[in-house]
Amino acid sequence: MYSYLLGRIYGIPVKIHITLLIFLPIIALQISAVMGVGSLIWGLLAAFGLFASVGLHELGHSVIALSKRIRVREILLLPIGGLAQLERMPDNPDDEMHIALAGPIVSFALAIGFWLLAILLSWGPVWLILLLRVIAAMNLMLALFNLLPSFPMDGGRVFRAWLTPRLGLVEATRIAARTGQTMAILFGLWGLVRGSLITLAVAVFIYLAAGAEYRMVLLRQRMQGGFGFDPFDQPTVAPDEEDDTITVSPPPYKREEEPRWLDWIKQSGRKVRKMFDDLFDDWNRRSPK
Ligand code: ZN
Repeated sequence: MYSYLLGRIYGIPVKIHITLLIFLPIIALQISAVMGVGSLIWGLLAAFGLFASVGLHELGHSVIALSKRIRVREILLLPIGGLAQLERMPDNPDDEMHIALAGPIVSFALAIGFWLLAILLSWGPVWLILLLRVIAAMNLMLALFNLLPSFPMDGGRVFRAWLTPRLGLVEATRIAARTGQTMAILFGLWGLVRGSLITLAVAVFIYLAAGAEYRMVLLRQRMQGGFGFDPFDQPTVAPDEEDDTITVSPPPYKREEEPRWLDWIKQSGRKVRKMFDDLFDDWNRRSPK
């Protein structure tokens, strides 16, 4: 959904998400500005290098997943990175950690590779060296950014895999997701202070993705049963409020009535959440239709 097929590697479809197509010119412009070159072509080349690097990063995840006998449904390229969508969740936290770490390791290797290439070609044209250095720097940022302990970044998975043997999957996911959301809020505040719309958009994206991951784990645990508590079976009214007080005015049904705009906002919120849940159920096979 919302994505286009670029090609296949090892039989894995590599797709580009529509948001990346929208962001690409903006990213190219920003890179051009950072590089201090007037022409947008270098920005576009660097942006192309960046997303090829993102693709290789995801391929790193995919190759390790395949080695653990986990099929990879697709690689999806997004503005904040990519997603290698696995057909199922790894059986044990160690496998999840290895798969999660493979991406940042590829990015670190690419950063070193492009940096060495820039040194080797130091006699070459200035624009080429600049381009190689920019791609090296972007790969380094990609590795470091993805190591943040926050879903949907790899660091969030490493963090969860590390917590799981200690706390269990649900509690581990809850803590990793809350950490991610806290970081997203700080990131968003930073974006607001700096007036950076892209930073703000990335923060919202991370926040929603972290929540989606936690809801998914809860849902899966609930469907599998054998679970300590039912997260959906929470009392909707505090017991003492319901048992001890009799509400005469306003009558209880009045509370059900909501202004139309509030209903509209809630429905829109649910739609956005649904879109992100669809997008981020990467470790979780979608129910066959
Ligand atoms: Zn990754």
